[in-house]
Amino acid sequence: MNHAILRIILLSSAALSALAAPLGPHKTENIIFVMTDGLRVQELFNGAEDALLIKGNAGESNLDALKKAYWRDTPAARREALMPFLWGTVAKNGQIYGNRELKSEAFVTNEKNFSYPGYSETLCGFPDAEITSNDKILNANVTVLEWLHRKPAFRNKVAAFGAWDVFPYIFNAARAGFPVNAGYDPFTAVPLTPKLELLNQLKAEAPRVWPDEAFDSLPFHTALEYLKEQKPRVLYLSLGETDDWAHGGNYAEYLHSAYRVDAYLKTLWDTVQSMPQYRGKTTLIFSTDHGRGEAPTEWKSHGVKIPDSKYIWMAFLGPDTRPLGERSKATPVTQSQIAATLAALLGEDYAGSVEKAGKPLADVLQ
Ligand SMILES: [Zn+2]
Repeated sequence: MNHAILRIILLSSAALSALAAPLGPHKTENIIFVMTDGLRVQELFNGAEDALLIKGNAGESNLDALKKAYWRDTPAARREALMPFLWGTVAKNGQIYGNRELKSEAFVTNEKNFSYPGYSETLCGFPDAEITSNDKILNANVTVLEWLHRKPAFRNKVAAFGAWDVFPYIFNAARAGFPVNAGYDPFTAVPLTPKLELLNQLKAEAPRVWPDEAFDSLPFHTALEYLKEQKPRVLYLSLGETDDWAHGGNYAEYLHSAYRVDAYLKTLWDTVQSMPQYRGKTTLIFSTDHGRGEAPTEWKSHGVKIPDSKYIWMAFLGPDTRPLGERSKATPVTQSQIAATLAALLGEDYAGSVEKAGKPLADVLQ
């Protein structure tokens, strides 16, 4: 056999094993899945953008202070200043997809490039052409969280928290049967701790900049308290300020909110590593529902009219994911693959059960 043929055979068997359902031994028993709405690939991979660090975009912030916080000489230093946990820990010990400059593409397949279609694609594993608005319409599709929750091993061990008040509809909470707390709704699904009582009070009393979306700190601290008290196996948290401030043209607050999201990831990660139920047995997934346009104007927006807003990013950190870091020359990945990947990390074959769902990301599973 000549070397060329041998090489083809070896390559084919490698390709086949990459395609095989990776549901063998796995260490992940719990998932923490965090999304932040509409955070651009531009900031995620290159940090604060020069063209947008201008007076008109700085809101009430002092531009010099803003540059001091987030401007550095190189893109690598800028992104680490903006998201130190992502670039200091996830990039070293996990995987990050979506830097097109390194030939790693991640994108949504729903062709809408806005929120409800993106969350539904992420959580159900396929796009749905019937979802054409962000209206409060109950999702006809079942999310991977609901699919897991129907299994005895996950019964009463799934919970979702969101800044945006449409999440009870995206999850179809009444049908799904697990707690979904979002917007300004008080969280009452479990016995209230003093902290949850205070959070509920702040939701009721704090000023509302956006009628449909609470500041991120409220769902974050509610989810964190729930994690510590109830110890779910699957915790979902969606944050919204990165999208709202961008729509408002406030680049300063947009950057501050991205920085806070990163700090929230670190808090969640440090918390789970301090708890025996989670330590060494938990995978963190981090992604977004859509991208946005370019500077100087379209960065504020996204949707069908901004084709590049289909580009997203996704990150994985956990005991089953090899430390390949920021991916380069990688097979393109889609938003529709996240649901099956989440399930496969837990040893569950979502893609085998839901035919139209995207396949799990083989490289994320050891
Ligand atoms: Zn969105």
